[in-house]
Amino acid sequence: MADCVFCKIAAGEIPSDKVYEDDEVLAFRDIHPQTPVHILVIPKAHIAAGAADIHAGNAAAVGKCYTAIAEIARRLKLEGGFRIVTNSGGAAGQTVPHLHFHLLAGRDLMLNMG
Ligand code: AMP
Ligand code: ZN
Repeated sequence: MADCVFCKIAAGEIPSDKVYEDDEVLAFRDIHPQTPVHILVIPKAHIAAGAADIHAGNAAAVGKCYTAIAEIARRLKLEGGFRIVTNSGGAAGQTVPHLHFHLLAGRDLMLNMG
């Protein structure tokens, strides 16, 4: 999608600090990290969705992203734990309308639920 920042990152038109890539999924470090490890996991295809917009027609992309998340956790040795966040809608802070999962780790997340 022409004006989508994550589509541009997936196409290599905007540089990113990649941590994982396969045919369908890309993961890269968030430009404004909220935790020591803050990675965004996206389907390469533009799926205009937050967590409220998942349905049978796009759910496979969610599975692909979570499969990648498990692999990233192994590669980065996140045995201590991590959190996956998908903001959905403006009130939740969703700013990029391309399905994505925040992978957060690297410090005690129990105090950071807000
Ligand atoms: P959300 O607010 O849930 O839609 O998440 C969007 C995230 O994308 C934010 O955490 C931003 O910091 C991040 N972001 C926006 N542009 C870039 C970029 N060019 N490279 C890496 N992360 C980005
Ligand atoms: Zn997109």
